Amino acid sequence: MIVDLKSTPHKTPRLIVEGGLVSKNAYICASCGFCRFGCPVSKKVGFESQTARGRMYILKKILDGELEYESDLIESFYACALCGNCSEICPAGVDYIEIVSELRKLFVESGMLPESQKLLRDNLTKYGNPFSKEEERGVWLPLTYREPRKSKNLYFIGCSSSYSSTRIPKSIMRVLEAVKYDFIVMGNLENCCGEPLFRMGEEQKADEFMERNVEKFDQLGVENIFASCAGCYKTLKNRYPKRFNVLHITQLLQQLVEQGELVFKKEFPRKIIYFDGCDIGRHCGTYEEPRNLLKAIPGVELLEFDYNRDEAMCCGGPFAASAPELAAKIAEDRVREAEEQGADIIAVACPTCMVNLRDGARRAGIEMEVQDITMLLPRLVG
Ligand code: SF4
Ligand code: SF4
Repeated sequence: MIVDLKSTPHKTPRLIVEGGLVSKNAYICASCGFCRFGCPVSKKVGFESQTARGRMYILKKILDGELEYESDLIESFYACALCGNCSEICPAGVDYIEIVSELRKLFVESGMLPESQKLLRDNLTKYGNPFSKEEERGVWLPLTYREPRKSKNLYFIGCSSSYSSTRIPKSIMRVLEAVKYDFIVMGNLENCCGEPLFRMGEEQKADEFMERNVEKFDQLGVENIFASCAGCYKTLKNRYPKRFNVLHITQLLQQLVEQGELVFKKEFPRKIIYFDGCDIGRHCGTYEEPRNLLKAIPGVELLEFDYNRDEAMCCGGPFAASAPELAAKIAEDRVREAEEQGADIIAVACPTCMVNLRDGARRAGIEMEVQDITMLLPRLVG
């Protein structure tokens, strides 16, 4: 039972969830602390209140009536990348991501969204993108992609690549044009997929974003969608109607390699380490396709981080907007690990990971190339 936060007799709003997801999970936490090992925030900030164990402790105290929700406690539930490393490692099976996602929804429903999130929420609702950009989305798109036409294949470019990391979509277009793969993009018809709103618990607003996009998908006759942003991929795959077949671009390109349609004609003799971003990795289980794509390039030696696939450590990307200093500090660790493995290039499958790891390399003073996988490909297809 969820009791209305405002109807409780406490000085500050109190959340009581009896017999539900939150209380069940809070009480099974054994306080062992294993979850701290792979937590990027715990490693850099060091406050117990910003670990999964600390948050479960806070919840238990609230459920037992010994603590009340105050703004700094609510902020602590947002000082989490939702990377999922702790859920993966927890021996008691605490469903941490579900709990925090549920709590964030309840905070929003109760008008308790913290200040740190409000600017991003307001930018998204006002501009339809997180960057407060008023200009046309995808203003750089070549004319051939601007002519309105229908297709069952859609490339959902996403906010980051529409407004800043435009080399990613440009590279994808060059590669797919080389193999004559038919697809469309939405340009200014595209709206943010809603990921940042889902993430902060603004479910209703996120659903509105989704409905806006789905209406356009249907008008364009779309059946298959591919995305190059891992956050868009996760959201389209896990939140949007299941009638759309959603792939990450690395999955589509790997299929084209397997079918013999995409052939890399040039050697690329580099040591490349693949970074498993949390959204494409733990949240979608897509681990092998990006690796297989890299292995298909002649001359590439594929390296691995010590902690990879479902054990991979977050790069800090989710904090890039709200806490850029923390984001770069976390990324710095990943870049050092890549350097220790002897990598020439860190390859990623997400524009946010790419930008953040580049910040981490700068901060670490390490000359490490960080590239989205797709950006490596145009030079290899001829
Ligand atoms: S690993 Fe699981 S059981 Fe142990 S402290 Fe963390 S959340 Fe609790
Ligand atoms: S989801 Fe990631 S950032 Fe959040 S507590 Fe777990 S390990 Fe730390």
